[in-house]
Amino acid sequence: MSALLSHTLSKVKPSPSIAAKARVDQLRAEGRAIIDFTLGEPDFSTPAHIVQAGVAAALAGETKYTGSAGTPALRSAIVAKLARENDLAFTVEQVIVGSGAKSLIFNAFAATLNAGDEVIIPAPYWVSYPDMVVLNGGTPVIADCDASSGFKLTPPVLEAAITPQTRWLVLNTPNNPSGAVYSRSELQALCDVLRRHPQVWVMTDEIYEHFVYGLARHVSPLNVAPDLAERALVINGVSKAYAMTGWRIGYAAGPAALVKAMALLASQTTTCASAISQAAAVAALEGPQACVQEARRTFQERRDAMVKGLNAIAGIHCAVPDGAFYVFPSVAGLAGRCAGGQALRDDTDVARFLLDAAGVACVDGSSYGMPSFLRLSFATSLAQIAEGCKAISEAIATLR
Ligand code: PLP
Repeated sequence: MSALLSHTLSKVKPSPSIAAKARVDQLRAEGRAIIDFTLGEPDFSTPAHIVQAGVAAALAGETKYTGSAGTPALRSAIVAKLARENDLAFTVEQVIVGSGAKSLIFNAFAATLNAGDEVIIPAPYWVSYPDMVVLNGGTPVIADCDASSGFKLTPPVLEAAITPQTRWLVLNTPNNPSGAVYSRSELQALCDVLRRHPQVWVMTDEIYEHFVYGLARHVSPLNVAPDLAERALVINGVSKAYAMTGWRIGYAAGPAALVKAMALLASQTTTCASAISQAAAVAALEGPQACVQEARRTFQERRDAMVKGLNAIAGIHCAVPDGAFYVFPSVAGLAGRCAGGQALRDDTDVARFLLDAAGVACVDGSSYGMPSFLRLSFATSLAQIAEGCKAISEAIATLR
């Protein structure tokens, strides 16, 4: 079998969050009760009016191939959404629909990277970016953003990471896994750096835009630097905002030439995103938005409960995330403590210990390029959050 596999494949790691989820499923199948904090998707059902639009489309015969860039109806709905909610002006030719934001990020790299091209990825990062860069022959350049800067990229760190080979900066706001949300002034300062380096494009992954809490507001880099539009690609989708992860609809907006290149790639790979899902996505973007605000309020309440629960545990320090649906606490305080005579060396050991001793599943920070931290999703019920924090606290109390 190994003779069959490509050299490229050997450079790709399995997604750690998908692997963690598989471990949870396996342990549950063995009869263990596991509290799952690995979830990367809302735990709600897709709102009924969106499901009904998908069903109606299927019954009306919208079951054929569509254009590779998406249906005219969905592309128009995306143009209107970007204008209405983000104050961003795009034309239909500058918008493309794909089978999830993930496939569009991949296609954007596939359409633009040559061997030796570098992509700056601030850490902590969503696990798929570096692997997608590698799969497309590029070189990920990891820019470390530590907790003291709110896990955000700063202008000096960006400046130091840029070389003549840099093709892209990937910015993810709100961020998975840290929950960091970039402010206008922070984006302005980063865009000032980008202006000095015309070879660098910026890809902004805004998939968690609606999940911002307290005083935080989502801002797109193009809101503060419209002059960068000629080298910016906005990535978004309906997966998180409308609890539509399984429908697989994402979208991207950027220069028409790049969008055309991405559509060409789609035409020779996936052909198009599901016609039925595209019809449902039109209903999501054009229909009532109360479900999104309701989800935001629910997540904020869960965030507060989880932060409080974790900060009550000695050895765990949890900053309050401004966005997304994850907390990213430091577990550095647990390093060196002993479980059954064995010292916990790092975040990976702590995650394993919590699964074994507390029955709580989460993902190690190392997987996101930031050791000493854990990612816990609060896209689960308040009851599970309370039970999970209690189980973690009791397990940690047994450490020597
Ligand atoms: N971008 C980020 C930061 C994510 O966390 C995810 C999913 O977890 C995606 C993109 C992928 O979204 P989609 O379901 O649209 O492929």
